Amino acid sequence: MKIPIEKPVLVTSALPYVNGECHIGHLRTYVPADIYVRMLRKMGYDVIFISGSDTHGTPIVLSAEAQGITPEEVVAKYHEHFKRIFQALNVNFDYYGWTDSESNHRRTEEIVKKLIENGYVYKKETKQAFCNTCGRFLPDRYVEGKCPYCGAIARGDECDQGCGKHLEPGEIIEPKCKICGNEADFKQQEHFFFNLSSFTDFLISYLDKLGGTRNARNYALEWTKKELRDWCITRAMEWGVKFPGRDDLVVYVWVDAPIGYISFTEELLNYTTDEKDWRKYWKGNKATIVHFIGTDIIYHHCIFWPAMLKGVGYSLPDAVVASGMVKINGGTFSKSRGNVVRVKEFLERFHPDTLRYYLVAQSSHTKELDFSWDSFSMRVNNELVAILGNLVHRVVSFAYKNFRVVPEGEIDEDVFAAIERTKEEETRVVDEYEFKKLVDSAMKLADFGNSFFQREEPWHLIKMGDAGRERCGEIVKNVLQIIKAVCIGLEAVMPEKMGEVWSQLGMESDVHSVKLEEMMVPIASGQELKKPKKLFELVEI
Ligand SMILES: [Zn+2]
Ligand SMILES: [Zn+2]
Repeated sequence: MKIPIEKPVLVTSALPYVNGECHIGHLRTYVPADIYVRMLRKMGYDVIFISGSDTHGTPIVLSAEAQGITPEEVVAKYHEHFKRIFQALNVNFDYYGWTDSESNHRRTEEIVKKLIENGYVYKKETKQAFCNTCGRFLPDRYVEGKCPYCGAIARGDECDQGCGKHLEPGEIIEPKCKICGNEADFKQQEHFFFNLSSFTDFLISYLDKLGGTRNARNYALEWTKKELRDWCITRAMEWGVKFPGRDDLVVYVWVDAPIGYISFTEELLNYTTDEKDWRKYWKGNKATIVHFIGTDIIYHHCIFWPAMLKGVGYSLPDAVVASGMVKINGGTFSKSRGNVVRVKEFLERFHPDTLRYYLVAQSSHTKELDFSWDSFSMRVNNELVAILGNLVHRVVSFAYKNFRVVPEGEIDEDVFAAIERTKEEETRVVDEYEFKKLVDSAMKLADFGNSFFQREEPWHLIKMGDAGRERCGEIVKNVLQIIKAVCIGLEAVMPEKMGEVWSQLGMESDVHSVKLEEMMVPIASGQELKKPKKLFELVEI
């Protein structure tokens, strides 16, 4: 999808559920979203980038009960944890909120009231899992059993091990109570339902035009065309956003979680002028809205969320970008099998930029990414050390030793042509969401720089009198130009490391705010180079 340059852009990244530590699987969404935002800014777009912690729902309550603490305490702990991880990885949100904020309670209440007013919510007696031993209802994760569609072991609200379907309360077969382990029963209880099925025609035409990745659009269309069932949007529990007028019910976590995108926009723009009001992003389609998510939450973002927005007359998302899931050594995550890579531990051993690079270089965005230490060390050693690190260190060292400054000379036409091609390829990432192409094309340019330097043999020229020195300077300047261009594109992927390269080149501007156009601007002769330091260390696993 072509993003119109004249409209402001709102980019969101799926909300991490703050119930445990950040692992590598989470980053498959956040890092590419951050790269995307950096690229948009390099191309001159006006962008805001938001996310926040998803704080409600039963897993947090269960985990609080197990630890003998309050849900607030669980949330506060992991909210801080995620914030620190994002900072360490330079995933630079303009605002990172949480869904238990006062404004999110307020905005959720306002939207639910409007849905009721507009006739999209109805009351119904429905069967819910109930534990006779514990004497209580068992919403969502309080119950486990079998999926009614595929027979796999499932949680109360989703078939997470099998077909991936969202399960409505009361649907699960052979329910067991998660608290006491006993077989559970079903009991009638009054709940509120969102009339999702009445949005079927709207959704089919909306999804048909939805931008983003094909996987999101196709899954959602397939589901919508089969049959949409109404959503039970209330839960009988304490923790969450109260359903309007009912003290005994809260709204289902998937109601207030995406509304967080609106509240966070509002919180970010709260203290600025009216013109910068949140309505600019969420009313009247005056902005472009892009959601970055994982494939596991397509249903929620492409069906439930747009239907809810449509029901209250808010702006609809323009694009949904869904990343493939992460596997570890070919298997799914499992703490007991050691199949989990915690980001905090990773960052104690390796530079964050190497992880950012790996996550996009290793596989196409919508495909599954199979993490292994072997593939990580190969990417770092064979690409970052051998191609990029080698180019920068070798050329800047040679230039520093022999000239101290960027020498005089013209940039060759074929060098400019190679840079122009790279720039074209890099800009495509914004319409195609293919982050691997961005790194591949920058690394191809780095490769070209290495061969250019090797072919011209400037180390011979420098010994051949004034004429030799002059030609040598020109070659060096050309390769420095290539490094400068590589650095601008790769800043989106490796912001800290490219900051180091920028400073070695003696550039005075801030590499993080330089526009892509600058790739074609000749590096200034006479500017002082810095004594180079090695960029990347070899990884030995
Ligand atoms: Zn299933
Ligand atoms: Zn029980």
